[in-house]
Amino acid sequence: MARYDNILDTIGHTPLVRLNRLAPEHVNLYVKVEAFNPMGSVKDRMARAIIEDAEASGALQPGQTVIEATSGNTGIGLAMVCAQKGYPLVVTMAENFSVERRKMLRFLGARVVLTPAAEKGTGMLKKAEELAREHGWFLCRQFDNPANARVHMRTTVPEILSDMQGQPLYAFVTGFGTGGTLNGVAHGLREHSPDTKIIAAEPDNAQVLGSGVAQPRDAEGNPVGSHPNFKPHLMQGWSPDFISSLTEQALSQGLIDRIQPVPGEGAMRTSRRLAREEGIFVGTSSGATLHAALEVAARAPVGANIVCMLPDTGERYLSTPLFADIEEDMNEAELAVSRSTPGYRFDAGSSPAPAPAASAPELDEDAQRFVRDITRNTPVVMFALEWCEFCWSARKLFSAMGVDYESVDLDSVAYQDNNRGNNIRAVLLQETGSPTIPQIYVGGRHIGGCTELFDYQRSGEFATALGQLGIEPREYREDPYGLLPQWLHSRAS
Ligand code: PMP
Repeated sequence: MARYDNILDTIGHTPLVRLNRLAPEHVNLYVKVEAFNPMGSVKDRMARAIIEDAEASGALQPGQTVIEATSGNTGIGLAMVCAQKGYPLVVTMAENFSVERRKMLRFLGARVVLTPAAEKGTGMLKKAEELAREHGWFLCRQFDNPANARVHMRTTVPEILSDMQGQPLYAFVTGFGTGGTLNGVAHGLREHSPDTKIIAAEPDNAQVLGSGVAQPRDAEGNPVGSHPNFKPHLMQGWSPDFISSLTEQALSQGLIDRIQPVPGEGAMRTSRRLAREEGIFVGTSSGATLHAALEVAARAPVGANIVCMLPDTGERYLSTPLFADIEEDMNEAELAVSRSTPGYRFDAGSSPAPAPAASAPELDEDAQRFVRDITRNTPVVMFALEWCEFCWSARKLFSAMGVDYESVDLDSVAYQDNNRGNNIRAVLLQETGSPTIPQIYVGGRHIGGCTELFDYQRSGEFATALGQLGIEPREYREDPYGLLPQWLHSRAS
């Protein structure tokens, strides 16, 4: 199918891909690449299933707010589903999770309520429960919700079996977070492919299943406190600090054939090898699951078919230890490549000068009048380009100081007719002696570009000039250079 009624119909049907370099030759090792889901993770399946299950049961009413405690893929999947279906979503999240995640959720229209880092996972869960109780919101309860397992029975298992085209499946390898994947796939395969071994992988330093130690629970079966063997580990999305009811059920029903411990360093190394040797770009838990699958493969009989889950995309991990060794700046080898030709280098003066214009353009009288009038009559004017990041940095300062300004966006549609934008640029070049944009004027006086504006602000002159124009700016105490694009900081450092 290549045409869909809505984005939710693109969830699932993820490809099963054979590994040709990383796997030993005597087996067929296939990875199920869940990054192909619309928001890039396996949790899209669960997000849709929980919402649609609640719609069907009446637990979720039209327009009702949905809430969940989640730091990652679940929230991102829910944000997509709620956006598509029109439910407001609130996500509670401890303050120490990466800023990217908050921003992604808010970009999708969710509200993010932060909880103190000191109160850990429990704090964000309790806050979600409290808000749901007080406001009558629908709490998803991904760790206990049976819809989370059922969706894997209904979708993941038939997909795998159909893609195997009747060939026997020797083993299925997965980690567990909520245990939805483990529980649902294990149940489905036990029914439709009973000889398939179910392998559950977990961090080697936090063996909550492998230890055989029971999770402390209250009379109703809810986990009480952390599992005694839990330790913080590197596999984000795997093994929370307690055994969830979905995981416990798979365990107590004897659905798990083997528990495979995985070292954190091995997980990250395997993720990088997947990227570099197979071209498959996935996150830490994917590397961890494959690390476990390679252990299984090494001991598997000749010709065995093995399926390994890869839960999400690598793009979500740029600020995590997975990318810690990936440099921002050029290393020696890259510098050597740069130096191997003369131009466009940082260490050899300027790049070849652009060819001079055939003839200096005549200044357009309308453009001259326009620049003169607007700079005289408007207190703060910025000649800008819509796409220019320096212009955006200057806009941020104006906005932080509450300063109204006129932005003349020279590349916008409004300035395209009769070459107006370029005519104005030519006037600015003559007036300021500078070919760059932005050019900023305050009270008719030319200040310069973005960094000149920042210097003007730092020295206090900007506030004084505004005062003389009868404008009372908000005080701005930070260093305006912090408003420059992030990539500029890394180059300058
Ligand atoms: N890996 C990642 C990156 C995840 O976000 C999750 C879900 N928390 C898992 C693995 C585990 O999946 P499940 O919740 O179905 O056990």
